[in-house]
Amino acid sequence: MSIDEKVRKTLAELEVSDAAGVEALFAEVRAAMETEKQELVSRGAASEAERNLACKSLRDRWLARKNGIVSFIDENWLKKATKQLKPGVGRQFNELRKSAANLETEQLLKTIPKTINLSASVAVTASVRAELTVERPTPTDLTLTGNRRALGSLHPVTQVMREIEEIFLGLGFWIETGPEIESTYYNFDALNIPESHPARDDWDTLYINSQTLLRTHTSPVQIRAMEKHGAPLYIICPGKCYRHDNPDSSHATMFHQVEGLAVDSDITFADLKGTLDFFAKRFFGEKIRTNFFPSFFPFTEPSGDVAISCTICDGKGCRVCKESGWLEVMGCGMVHPDVLEHGGIDPKKFSGWAFGLGVERFAMMKYGVNDIQLFTQSDVRFLEQF
Ligand SMILES: [Zn+2]
Repeated sequence: MSIDEKVRKTLAELEVSDAAGVEALFAEVRAAMETEKQELVSRGAASEAERNLACKSLRDRWLARKNGIVSFIDENWLKKATKQLKPGVGRQFNELRKSAANLETEQLLKTIPKTINLSASVAVTASVRAELTVERPTPTDLTLTGNRRALGSLHPVTQVMREIEEIFLGLGFWIETGPEIESTYYNFDALNIPESHPARDDWDTLYINSQTLLRTHTSPVQIRAMEKHGAPLYIICPGKCYRHDNPDSSHATMFHQVEGLAVDSDITFADLKGTLDFFAKRFFGEKIRTNFFPSFFPFTEPSGDVAISCTICDGKGCRVCKESGWLEVMGCGMVHPDVLEHGGIDPKKFSGWAFGLGVERFAMMKYGVNDIQLFTQSDVRFLEQF
């Protein structure tokens, strides 16, 4: 006997007389309902209209107020149940109505696929099949104006650093890097600045503990590179440095340096002057002249400061160069023999020169920026000029 036939009879006619019988009967109904739903899901529908129709007819078959299966159960099983069976039938009937709720058309539409079950429809030709399975996107109005995303650019400090790197790479130098968290040995001792040396006070150091610090310059990479590669050595070391400086228009707690080091068997001060003069002309322009002033650094001997002819007044004297005609741009010198030795290189066989420059200072001179703080304030109005 089919479900359709059964729901048209009373429980007495079906010879159901105890709770177990009621339970089994409702289980059969629920299974039939689930099977019909699954059949529809696996069959799918060829079109939206067909899909709507299929969902609606399944819903009506089960849930229609007049002649729906649930309404027959209500009429013939529940209302006509004996007093003894009625509570059990009522409970089962409520359960059935709850699970029948997902036969409501909107619920069903969520579960029925939009495409036809192709294996079931042999008559469909290949091209029609393709058309049926293609999910059609909502049409786009191609005449509407688009939203252009703002394109970013390299930070001016990065641009200047890369420009400096390019010049030295062209001269046969290569790039070395080192840790920003450095030991006091590499940052000071190996560079000829022992703990007792007053020069240590020149670097306002941010210590992590008594042995560890944030490197105050890129010079420790010199020692690390000498230890690693030995001589001959032609390197530049770009990177971040940190100092406990009060921020103002020319001081920042974090800034960038490029360190240069050349070690070979016949390096003289003339090589240093020639290389840095070439570099300054490449970077600032061919008209630039360089001047070397005596200076002091513990890790070079002799030491010097490099100045370039003022980029504003071309050496005549102005406010920017304090009427001197010259702008100091970097420190340099011949590598101290002790430093070579600390790097594991024999100072009797090899000599070398080194320089260090501040990238922000170069960027400020190149672009006419008057405040170093602007580089780290992330102000788009400033940054988009570069
Ligand atoms: Zn000037």
